[in-house]
Amino acid sequence: KGEFIAVSTGMNLGGQISVIAKDYIQKADVVYALMPHTLAERWLERLNPNLKSLQPFYGVGKYRMQSYEEMIEVMMDEVREGKKVCGAFYGHAGVFACVPRLTIDKARKEGFRALMEPGISAEACLYADIGIDPGVHGIQGYEASQFLFYNQSINNAAYAIMWQIGIVGEHTATQFETKPEWVEVFVERLKEWYPLSHEVILYEAAVLPIEEPRIERLQLKDLPQAEMSTKSTLVIPPARALELNIEVLEKMGLKPEDIA
Ligand code: SAM
Repeated sequence: KGEFIAVSTGMNLGGQISVIAKDYIQKADVVYALMPHTLAERWLERLNPNLKSLQPFYGVGKYRMQSYEEMIEVMMDEVREGKKVCGAFYGHAGVFACVPRLTIDKARKEGFRALMEPGISAEACLYADIGIDPGVHGIQGYEASQFLFYNQSINNAAYAIMWQIGIVGEHTATQFETKPEWVEVFVERLKEWYPLSHEVILYEAAVLPIEEPRIERLQLKDLPQAEMSTKSTLVIPPARALELNIEVLEKMGLKPEDIA
């Protein structure tokens, strides 16, 4: 009987994949891959020669939901034929990636075994590369365009991660870049919580062993002119210190000095 396993390959080619994910890839009848680099596809091909790329389903000017639908269907067709299908997705297959989850949902609805293996996401890499521990100040994450278009809010005493900053404002779901004027509106919105001089970080994890991560610190006001791509994630450090909630402390019979 067919099955669908979505595995995560990590960000950096070859080294960040889990043992179990590698095992699923090696044992699959067919592997469909969505990788950040063709070299990563070649590496996967060495684990399983029956490798097919999902990249050709994307296209500039093509509606992204259409691309996703086609990717899901091509994998499901093989599952329906009784094959063990593995979808290999870079980073964590369940983080800002709808194709793995939608395929799992569809496979399960049709009565097939389907599951996801977790992996090392861009966020996991940035904790290591930039040296942020989310436990120190707290952390929140948003899709940059969603943050812009909807009434979201920021806790500026904690870190904020803005995913897909490189396509912020791209409302047609057909293009793969942003425009400086859209980034300006984004900066304008962030002014509600941060001064324009606030230091932010453009982060790009290394995806090849020979690469170094990009960790570019710049002022918020300079973001519209900064170079960004589909690999960029924006990290916004806190703008103020944590404040004790005296009301809560009083309810608990505690004083500020009681907090270790
Ligand atoms: N599943 C991926 C993960 O686990 O990190 C995320 C995929 S999501 C469709 C694409 C977004 O992830 C980008 O816009 C960016 O915010 C982030 N991203 C992808 N590659 C990255 C990299 N090399 N470094 C930092 N962030 C990256």
